[in-house]
Amino acid sequence: MIIYADNAATTKMSKTAIEAMLPYMDKIYANPSSLHTLGQQAKEELDAARQSVAKLLGAQPQEIIFTSGGSEADNQAIVSAAKLGERKGKKHIVSTAFEHHAVLHTLDRLKKQGFEITLLDVHENGIVTPQQVEAAIKEETCLVTIMFANNEIGTIQPVKEIGAVCRKKGVLFHTDAVQAAGHLHIDVEDMNIDMLSLSGHKFHGPKGVGVLYAKKGIPLANIIEGGAQEKGKRAGTENLPAIIGMAAALEEACANMAENSRKVQKLRDKLIDGLSAIPHSVLNGDRECRLPNNVNFCFEGIEGEALLLLLDAKGICASSGSACTSGSLDPSHVLLAIGRPHEIAHGSLRLSLCEENTEEEAEYIINAVTQVVAYLRSISPVWRSLEEGKQNFVIK
Ligand SMILES: *Cc1c(COP(=O)(O)O)cnc(C)c1O
Repeated sequence: MIIYADNAATTKMSKTAIEAMLPYMDKIYANPSSLHTLGQQAKEELDAARQSVAKLLGAQPQEIIFTSGGSEADNQAIVSAAKLGERKGKKHIVSTAFEHHAVLHTLDRLKKQGFEITLLDVHENGIVTPQQVEAAIKEETCLVTIMFANNEIGTIQPVKEIGAVCRKKGVLFHTDAVQAAGHLHIDVEDMNIDMLSLSGHKFHGPKGVGVLYAKKGIPLANIIEGGAQEKGKRAGTENLPAIIGMAAALEEACANMAENSRKVQKLRDKLIDGLSAIPHSVLNGDRECRLPNNVNFCFEGIEGEALLLLLDAKGICASSGSACTSGSLDPSHVLLAIGRPHEIAHGSLRLSLCEENTEEEAEYIINAVTQVVAYLRSISPVWRSLEEGKQNFVIK
C-alpha cells in the first residue's frame, strides 16, 4: 500500500491531462512554427491552449508565455523586472525570506550584480502584511516578488492587497503562484498582479512545463535565446503535448476547485486535529489562512529525516519540507523564517494532500505518525534530557 501525501512536491497526472496530450505525440506532432498544414494545425492548438490558460487567470492570451516550468518563469519574471529597473537606475527588490529557491537564488545572483535585496521577515503565522511591503518600498524599488501560497507551510499571502500597494507606489509586482494554481481562485486583473508564475506538475499536469503571465507592456528579457517562439521572448520549439496537458489539467482543477477544496480541507483538518494531540507538537503556519491541502508540523526531539524514513517504511510518502532542500541537512529556510529555532526546524513533517486521498488514509497517517514519533523519542538522548528537565522544551 502506498499513501501519497507529497502533492506539493509533485502530483500524479490526471487522466484528462494524459488523454489530452496523446494526440500531440503521434498525430498533431508538427512544429507550430512550420508553415505547412500540419504545422498550422499545431499552431492553432497552441493558441487554443494559450487562450484557455489566459481565461482561467483573467489574462489576455498575448500575456501568456509558456516556459519549462515554475523555476524558469520565476527566473524570467525577476530578471526582466531587474533589467527594466536597471535601465531606470532602480536597483532595489523587495521579497520575503520564505520564497522558493527559484526566487531566492535568482535574487542572490542579482545581489552579486549590484542589486539591493530586501527580504521581509515573515510573521510567526507565515503571512507577510501589505504594511510591511509598503514600508520596504523605496524610490529605487523596481520589483516586489512575493509568493501567493508557501510551498512548505501552505500559508496564503494577501496578494490582492500587496498588489494594490505596489500599484499605488508604481512598482512591478510578481507572484509565484505555483502552489496556488488549481487550489485558489486567481484573477490577475482583480488582484493587481503584473507577473505570475505557474507550473504544470503541481496541479495534475505534466512536468517540465509552466507559464509566465506578464501584463501587457512589460518588456520581458530572454532567459533562453534562439528562435522567435513565444513572440521572441522564449526560444525553443514549444513542448506542445505538455502545454496541452497543462491547459487541460488547469481547466479541470479550476472546474472542480470548490468541490475538491471542500473534500481535501476536511482531510487536512482531520490530520491537523489528530497530529495536534501528539505532545510537544506544533502546527506551522496559520491554521485558517492556508492551502486546503497543506499540513506541516514540528515535533520536538525528532529528526525529520528519521521520521520520513520510518513513515516511508509504512507506505506513507511525505516530506520534511521542500523537495528541493531535502537532499541537504540544512533546516528549512521557511521554518527558520517564521522563527522556529534550528533544533525544532529539523523535526518537521509536511503532508500535502489531493482529492484522491481518503478518510481512511488520514486515520492511518495519524496513527503511523503518532507511533513513529513516540518510538523515535523513546530512543533519543535529547528527548531523555528534555524529560529529565536538563533541557527546556521549546514546544509547550
Ligand atoms: C515547485 C515549485 C516551483 C518550481 O516549479 P518547477 O516547475 O518544478 O520548476 C517554484 N515555486 C514554488 C512555490 C513551487 O512549489
